[in-house]
Amino acid sequence: MKYWNPYLETLPKEALTRIELSYFRDMLSYAKTHSRLYQDKLKDTSPEEIRTLEDLKKLPLTDKEEMRTYQEMNPFPYGGLLGTDLEKVTTFRQTSGTTGKPIYVPETYESWQWRIEAWCHILYMAGFRPHHRVFLPFVYNVYVAFWEGHYAAEKLGCELIPGGGLDTKGRIHKILEVKANAMMNTPTYGLHIAEEAKSIGINPSSLGIERMLCAGEPMPEATRRRLEELFGCHVFDHIGGTEPCAWAGMCEAKDGMHIIEPFFLVEILDRENLQREVEEGEIGVAVITPLGRRSFPLIRFNTKDLVIKGESSCPCGRTSQKIKEVVGRMDDLRKVRGVLFSPKTVEEVIRKDFPQIEEFEIIVERRGIMDVITLRAEPHPELTVSSIEKTKHELQERLKIATNLTFNVIMEPPGSLPRYMLKAKRFKDLREEKP
Ligand SMILES: [Zn+2]
Repeated sequence: MKYWNPYLETLPKEALTRIELSYFRDMLSYAKTHSRLYQDKLKDTSPEEIRTLEDLKKLPLTDKEEMRTYQEMNPFPYGGLLGTDLEKVTTFRQTSGTTGKPIYVPETYESWQWRIEAWCHILYMAGFRPHHRVFLPFVYNVYVAFWEGHYAAEKLGCELIPGGGLDTKGRIHKILEVKANAMMNTPTYGLHIAEEAKSIGINPSSLGIERMLCAGEPMPEATRRRLEELFGCHVFDHIGGTEPCAWAGMCEAKDGMHIIEPFFLVEILDRENLQREVEEGEIGVAVITPLGRRSFPLIRFNTKDLVIKGESSCPCGRTSQKIKEVVGRMDDLRKVRGVLFSPKTVEEVIRKDFPQIEEFEIIVERRGIMDVITLRAEPHPELTVSSIEKTKHELQERLKIATNLTFNVIMEPPGSLPRYMLKAKRFKDLREEKP
């Protein structure tokens, strides 16, 4: 079968919108009566006022900062964000806290099943099927990452192999030992497994991985292709977060990502005023309302994820709205010497044209009144001194063309830069003020 849910995945756009608006009104009335945050925030709003997508604009966005304030209330630990009785909560998750105090997320059995169902769409689109033996190379934790993948793959009928408690070499041997043929990982960790495999004389393409679903970081197309080449497999991307859940995934066409409709009502708003729905091909901020999860109501959650709006048709036949590309986080966009800069551009250049660079790090600092941007690059150990010098100059030139900024490129000794298991932290802005 081509679709996980043939009915929903091929509904005409108008029908999807109609369903989503109806679910949205239900969620709005529920949130107003069950969540302290929305009792206060939406007290003057009536669900009946929301008849069209344009009407959504009457409602305020929800951001993480106000959620943190409401979390401090009773009952501990979810406070005014909780949308159900505390006794009905069956699972605790939390955000990673990279941008401040973590948000604690309650799931009931029902809300967790809803999350899993949305994830089933993502895995099925990425071609995961019952014959897949899926290796999960992580220690599961309080973070939602990979728990959803685990349960969704199980629901699809795949066989799960939890790979926590092993180091990377141990995991490589386990994949070979049990003949795992699919994997879920961050793009960074995928590249790391490939590097480690090569260091012990194993070609990553001989590991037998057929499908890989990536998570956790914006993945440039060049990185996706690089992973496909290294492992000789199909690599798919998806986007999500702890608060809104995973809300879009890539299909076999490998051209952008489908929003999981009608599980989510997704708005892509202009980043200047967060008011106007952007046009196809334009960058906007993803604002998300999960439509079936009551343990933790969220209305118009500002994800601060920057995406390019894509088409609403696809060769795969699915009718949901597409995201052309994930540009990155609003928090990662910086002005350097007056130029708007996204670290993803550097990764795109390196993964596309510099396979001899194993790892890298970008540092922005202020020296006097000048911003200085440095790229620390770690070349492959077998590169000769003259090739390293040549790579350095080529990198400088290509980065200048791609970003309009002059990089101070430093070639570091092999093995000197950190390797990351989950989300990579390759970008450091050391300036005191972030203009
Ligand atoms: Zn498609």
